[in-house]
Amino acid sequence: MPLLSSFDPWHSSLCTCPPKLTFNPYTGCDHGCLYCYATGYVQNFQNCHPKKDQLVTIQREATKLKGETVLLSSSSDPYPTVEAVLHWTRKILQILCERNCKIEITTKSHLVIRDIDLLSKVPSTVAFTITTDDDAQAKLLEPHAPPPSMRIEAAQDLIKAGIPVIVRIDPIIPLVNDMPYTLIEKLADIGVKHIISSTYKPKGDNWQRMKAAMPKEMEKIAHFYFKEGERVGGNILLPQELRQKIIGNVREIVLEHGMSFAVCREGIPKLNTATCDGSHLMPKREAYKW
Ligand code: SF4
Repeated sequence: MPLLSSFDPWHSSLCTCPPKLTFNPYTGCDHGCLYCYATGYVQNFQNCHPKKDQLVTIQREATKLKGETVLLSSSSDPYPTVEAVLHWTRKILQILCERNCKIEITTKSHLVIRDIDLLSKVPSTVAFTITTDDDAQAKLLEPHAPPPSMRIEAAQDLIKAGIPVIVRIDPIIPLVNDMPYTLIEKLADIGVKHIISSTYKPKGDNWQRMKAAMPKEMEKIAHFYFKEGERVGGNILLPQELRQKIIGNVREIVLEHGMSFAVCREGIPKLNTATCDGSHLMPKREAYKW
């Protein structure tokens, strides 16, 4: 199997993303999000390390690329804390940019602004995951990730540099962060054009972490998942009516603020007003001569 692999090789019934390739420069992630889905299938997930032994293979695979869209990354953050000193994701980006790939970054870190020089030479978008605009609440939910206030500042820098910014309000956890009015207002004010949202799905060990950190809230919502919830392709989702109501509220505020909106893996694509991954914002750029 190639390292630069298809984003959705299983053709999940929940995924509505346009075709693209993906690569995770790191195995694991140290942001420590309570709701992380990947900790359930990668051992020692917080012990994050770069896939340095794969550089030669990536270089070889990249020679066959002709401007494809590549997402960094789908199951770990491409900017964990150690990226500040290792510059490993930057090396991968350099290789992909030299092939004039279209780059989609998904991250929770302000470190991405270091790579504005590369990202502004190719068609690119940056999606920040921001679940709350309250730094204290984020410290509980995502204890080792940079605070949302730093992500919002970084988003402003990217927008100023002409790189479209998308924000994933993901996951929305009932009774915890399901009314993100002030966050949406701030994002509209700084020039974010597209919001993606999705509800929390208990999986593997993440439910245990959520219960330990927020016992009262999790006790109140448990039956919506485990008694009334919908099971789709190995996922436990809130009942459709409830998740449509929660996501519908977020959508309404987003549209009131003039941004486009999409849901991610919810089975309700009729709520989308644009591409689900924000790729409609990808700027066209002349091929850069490297
Ligand atoms: S940033 Fe993503 S991959 Fe990293 S711990 Fe959080 S949810 Fe998991």
